[in-house]
Amino acid sequence: MDFEKGTLEILPVALRMLEQGFATLPAVDARVPGQERISEVMQQVALRLRDNYPYFHPLYAGQMLRPPHPIARAAYALATWINPNNHALDGGRASSAMEKEAVAELAAMFGWQTHLGHLASGGTMANLEALWVAGQLHPGKKIAASAQAHYTHHRISSVLGLPFAEVPCDSRGRMDTGALQKLLAAGDIGCVVATLGTTGSGSVDPLPEILRLRAQHGFRVHADAAYGGYFKLAGNLTEEVRAAYDQIGQADSIVVDPHKHGLQPYGCGCVLFRDPSVGALYKHDSPYTYFTTAELHLGEISLECSRPGASAVALWATQKLLPLTRGGEFAAGMEACREAAVSMAERLSADSRWLVPFPPQLDIVVWAPRATSARVASEMSHRIFAAAAKRDLHLAMARLPVGFFPAFAANSSDPQETVLCLRSVLMKPEHREWLNQILERLDAAFGDAAA
Ligand SMILES: *Cc1c(COP(=O)(O)O)cnc(C)c1O
Repeated sequence: MDFEKGTLEILPVALRMLEQGFATLPAVDARVPGQERISEVMQQVALRLRDNYPYFHPLYAGQMLRPPHPIARAAYALATWINPNNHALDGGRASSAMEKEAVAELAAMFGWQTHLGHLASGGTMANLEALWVAGQLHPGKKIAASAQAHYTHHRISSVLGLPFAEVPCDSRGRMDTGALQKLLAAGDIGCVVATLGTTGSGSVDPLPEILRLRAQHGFRVHADAAYGGYFKLAGNLTEEVRAAYDQIGQADSIVVDPHKHGLQPYGCGCVLFRDPSVGALYKHDSPYTYFTTAELHLGEISLECSRPGASAVALWATQKLLPLTRGGEFAAGMEACREAAVSMAERLSADSRWLVPFPPQLDIVVWAPRATSARVASEMSHRIFAAAAKRDLHLAMARLPVGFFPAFAANSSDPQETVLCLRSVLMKPEHREWLNQILERLDAAFGDAAA
């Protein structure tokens, strides 16, 4: 296979255009001594980087990993010639403006014409800010998230000194709102995290139900859509999942990770607040960086100080090329991922060797080999995982509650038991066209593992 290299020809053209903007400055010698040594070291780097799974290839159907769009890579690289810092306008004037525009486009995707928000280093930091704001507004009250929510919420709550409550899930990995209702009776929950796309199985919490409970109990709703946020644009969700996305704009805060489905290099998460007045909570007096202008410095509304302007530039460029619109090219990519997952799950379900606990709600498929018990299935998953990798098919594994598999739960005495399952995050649109190849290799890997 070949890597994309076309943008390597576009980059110098753009770099010269950028350079012309500074043509009136006195000349500085821009040559770097030791080109030969740089080339030697870069070759060492290339050799070292070979020690990776091929995340960029359609036969990598494992974890949440994929390369950025070439335009994001090129725009990020171009920005590093300046290396702007989006903490203050003084450090990144153009890139701060681009961040505000790109973030406003993300907010608009969720239906918000006004918002407060910014980019963060990832979903963890973005969620930390959302829960920090929740804690400021409901001091001492609990953060509640489902048993399938990202483990980061429990850990962040502990960092923030906020108590945490885990809400059980139903057999499809969604928050059990009956159980939530019972927890709410104690009156000590300040914020409910609704996950729109769990990291394990892409399950979507029943947001409409959660919002109904908010109307009665007055907690904050934070939507963790770090993985699933961009499915807002997909036209091929089930009715139930679509209903959750249709109401996401009613959450108080939303996190979405452009470095997951938004085609960005790592280091790009985003937090959004529906009510811009929460900005007042960030108030501080920096003696250093501010305030050369009265305009908003993003560092005034962000817990992180220095942040890469290059991330904002890359995101801005990607959204220029592929606007976040329903029916557009970017949305078609999301739909292709989902189609790949739906047909993979259908084909596995129709095959007596496999158990699919539930159809994918987004583009993540989880399945297990049919076996006499959870333990035997788990051992078998492990062997199939290894056998598939030998055939260049890279899958992932997930430990899921035995309750997701009625066939195993029936003869398991321990409700805490888990099943080690196989898992594929089909987050590259190419997976759709590669599905036959993926299933052929899986079939062969099953044979290897059974032998
Ligand atoms: C990935 C993910 C996170 C954590 O985000 P990072 O970008 O890895 O820091 C949080 N929540 C969900 C649902 C995720 O998928």
